Amino acid sequence: MPKRKHEKQPKQSRMILTQCAFCAADLGLSLGKKCGRCSTRYCGPECQVKHWQEGGHDTLCKTIKKAGGAEQYNANNRYTEAVTVAAEACAEDTKGQTCYICTQALHWKTKEGLVRMCACRGTAGFAHVSCLAEQAEILVAEAEENNLDDKVLNERWNRWHTCSLCEQQYHGIVKCALRWACWKTYLGRPETDQFRCMAVSLLGNGLSDAARHEDALSVKEAELSMLRRIGAPEGNMLIAQSNLANTYHMLGRNEEALQMRRDVFSGCVRLLGTEHRDSLHEAHNYAMSLIRLKRFKEAKSLMRKTLPVARRVLSEGNDIMLRMRWTYAKALYKDPATTLDDVREAVTTLEETAPTARRVLGGAHPLTSSMELSLQDARAALAAREAA
Ligand SMILES: [Zn+2]
Ligand SMILES: [Zn+2]
Ligand SMILES: [Zn+2]
Ligand SMILES: [Zn+2]
Repeated sequence: MPKRKHEKQPKQSRMILTQCAFCAADLGLSLGKKCGRCSTRYCGPECQVKHWQEGGHDTLCKTIKKAGGAEQYNANNRYTEAVTVAAEACAEDTKGQTCYICTQALHWKTKEGLVRMCACRGTAGFAHVSCLAEQAEILVAEAEENNLDDKVLNERWNRWHTCSLCEQQYHGIVKCALRWACWKTYLGRPETDQFRCMAVSLLGNGLSDAARHEDALSVKEAELSMLRRIGAPEGNMLIAQSNLANTYHMLGRNEEALQMRRDVFSGCVRLLGTEHRDSLHEAHNYAMSLIRLKRFKEAKSLMRKTLPVARRVLSEGNDIMLRMRWTYAKALYKDPATTLDDVREAVTTLEETAPTARRVLGGAHPLTSSMELSLQDARAALAAREAA
């Protein structure tokens, strides 16, 4: 018995709670000390004592331990918060409706209200987050117990992020609440468990979509270090790194984003070859990071190397192709040291790609409007150049 306890605890401490519970110092994934009973983490014994004496840990420790430790306790709380916020946000839309799963307006146990944030219309699709989560958990467990094949298992796993009625992904705060539900369901499993891995990845991306970038950062960093530790396939690691680079970028940590983008790009080339869509997409991401840091020459040379490859394998209307050409044009006209020919080339490029984007993706697509704005900027830069 003691051995099992010993094995179990590090797994819990090595997750998304990466700060001292008293002074909020960053502990990364391994530093500091934790409460022997409930695994709450501290930078050192001083904070632990203070938290006990002044921070209320003396009254909470038992509750946290009972909930399954600090990580589980945190996930449960974050989930409950998210459900409350989601039900409040949906209150107007869900007035007078009932849950399509339990048929009640108020949840019998939690008393939570209804939500609906998918593509369901009319009277369809109203539900309690708890009912959606319970349904997903049961369906996945059943598939697991009966060893159903991967296709069925994946379809069932989708219930954690996609509505079974309209087949569209949940969005907004409902998405976030369900991802906390998913994480709290699987976090106690061993690190190598596929559902635990998928749950942490869903949570990180859900937090990003909800613009909770600081929270997303700790989840994504924990995910990446976990994947390294368990020796996950390189492809999975590259996806996690790419997601983490997005978060660095959103937090304005552009140097770190750039380094990670460079690693992901070279990793993709090594693993998949230069002609793979993912490699080309990552070339584009890497170039964008270079432009953000005003390293235009490098961005230009990267795009000059990768665009001919993209032309061989992608059509002109392909989303990645359009993004790559747009990025190349930006590298050309935004560089203060650019030549007149380069600015002309930028304008010509955007005059070709902007109408293609409008035709293929539609006028409401964010890429179309961004490209059209860039075309205006490039034309202005050209006019200024010619006037000078
Ligand atoms: Zn501390
Ligand atoms: Zn404790
Ligand atoms: Zn319900
Ligand atoms: Zn729906």
